[in-house]
Amino acid sequence: SPKNLLSSSKPSLLRSLSKSSPSIPIPDFTQLVRTNQEVFKNLSFRPFQREIIESVLQQKDTFVCMPTGGGKSLTFQLPAILSQGITIVIMPLLSLIYDQGKKLESFNIPYEIISGTQKKVADSNIYNKIKTDLSIKILFVTPEKLAKSQKIMDLFDSLHLADRLSRFVIDEAHCVSKWGRDFRGDYLKLSNLKKTFPKIPILALTGTATDQIREDVVSVLSMRAPKYFLASFNRPNLFYSVYEKTNKCLENIATYIKNKQNQECGLIYCISKKDCEKVSKKLSFDYKITSHHYHADLNDKDRHKIQDQWMEGKIQVIVATIAFGMGIDKKNVRFVIHYSFPRSIENYYQESGRAGRDGLRSDCIIYFNNSDKYKHDKLLNTQKRQSFNLTEIYQIMKYCENIYTCRRKIVLEYFGEKFDDKNCNEMCDSCLFKRKGQSRNFRQEALKILNFVQDLPKSVKTLLQISSFLRGVRVKTSWSKQFHEEFGVLHEMKQEDLECVIRHMIYENVLCEKVVKNFKKFKITKIDVGENSERFKNSDMPIIVMIQKCKNPVRIPLQMISPRDSENFNDKPEVNILKSNRIILPASPEDQVD
Ligand code: ADP
Ligand code: MG
Ligand code: ZN
Repeated sequence: SPKNLLSSSKPSLLRSLSKSSPSIPIPDFTQLVRTNQEVFKNLSFRPFQREIIESVLQQKDTFVCMPTGGGKSLTFQLPAILSQGITIVIMPLLSLIYDQGKKLESFNIPYEIISGTQKKVADSNIYNKIKTDLSIKILFVTPEKLAKSQKIMDLFDSLHLADRLSRFVIDEAHCVSKWGRDFRGDYLKLSNLKKTFPKIPILALTGTATDQIREDVVSVLSMRAPKYFLASFNRPNLFYSVYEKTNKCLENIATYIKNKQNQECGLIYCISKKDCEKVSKKLSFDYKITSHHYHADLNDKDRHKIQDQWMEGKIQVIVATIAFGMGIDKKNVRFVIHYSFPRSIENYYQESGRAGRDGLRSDCIIYFNNSDKYKHDKLLNTQKRQSFNLTEIYQIMKYCENIYTCRRKIVLEYFGEKFDDKNCNEMCDSCLFKRKGQSRNFRQEALKILNFVQDLPKSVKTLLQISSFLRGVRVKTSWSKQFHEEFGVLHEMKQEDLECVIRHMIYENVLCEKVVKNFKKFKITKIDVGENSERFKNSDMPIIVMIQKCKNPVRIPLQMISPRDSENFNDKPEVNILKSNRIILPASPEDQVD
């Protein structure tokens, strides 16, 4: 049985000699610039690239968090060719490795791949080649292979002995962290790299990292006094907006796409495979927009075909689940539309970030309604994904529901970046419409709501029933006659505002939602007391809801924007206002209101 050497705690005798990585004099800046131009054909360095490359060449452990498309690959490619030995690059997906390979070929940089998919014979040929061919600069390895194979550690060992082990590069390093969106068990084994080769520097690269994930990565990899490079996540050319999702949603999307000049292309994300197919069909047949669905059920061949056609502009729109995206480098994606809201802010940043990599104005649009949450719940129940949880869903729901705060600010602050909304340049709907809100603490109202929910009998009580009753609207339920005192206690509140407060109580876990079947076997969502209810009562925990800044606060409807000019993102897009058509919960037979 193959012994797992990486997880063994005893370093071999040879390794404990602990050589540091092969050192050559650090190239000066002019040499870096020349290499960047001659080999990589880049006119200049992008922000941080020079500094990161210098840190890497100084053999320092280096942590880089830079948005996707920021140019992280160059920070190991360039040092790799200026170093004597081999740079080991760990990447989570073979497709990413192949893309890298293609690029390196075009730059004439010799590299090898050990992935675990090769046949045994081919495998040992590669090992021999790597040991003997001194021209090889980069070796790509998948984490699975590294976790399983003893042979590969032996290879590192002999490279190390021969003074040819330059550094380890961990790409998509957030996969190390259990807190991250795509935690990969095999990445944990990377913790042994530093233990086994203490003097070989590590470069960790990622496009997404909260403080927590960053600390986790550094500690799992045992990085030593790392230099951090945390680039801004702001993508100034992306226009963020959220529209209410009504039954006109598809029509609106189609109109939006048809108004695009020169068949500018984009992406639509859906939660389910079924939705992908439905939306794509509608766009193709009803609106004559060239589109195709893309999800996990397609075979590799079809996926590549669709992807290629889209890259070449033959398909205008791909309608995809989140199976689509990682490692796709299309520069002129003009819009990313979420047909249902994404599963977390982090996911949203990644998915919307596929728009506008060329720096030109592009739109990121979410169609939001509360009931799409149940589609997420379904996935949550079937997939058992560790990293995907209710808290994150509630965060993105708050983002969507918000119409006052700069959207950029919310997203960037999620990643721990301070952001002054003056710098948004009206590139989100909140800023563009100068919707000023003020936050108000609805604690008193929330206490009344909580008391009422606590007193109610166990029978089904929906959000609509509760809010209607408290506002003084008679509700047909078994319990409505028992509660005289509570009837209409919040009559001064508007229905929307009251529902909004209740939803915020759910976001804060003061209340919770439970999907149950009623006596007619219909699924309905019942409101119940949440985990934080006692804490809420016994402390002064606020329930903060943003309301419009004027005497009679009303919630204004989300607005529809149809940006025309994608060349100049400082131009204001055209505006037309959607009629508010708030559907709060899926209608159920119990939801009868007098
Ligand atoms: P990341 O890994 O950060 O998502 P990549 O390394 O894949 O980004 O780079 C994204 C794109 O930017 C690539 O097409 C790459 O060739 C290009 N790029 C990187 N650095 C530069 C540069 N200094 N000048 C011009 N283009 C660059
Ligand atoms: Mg990358
Ligand atoms: Zn803004």
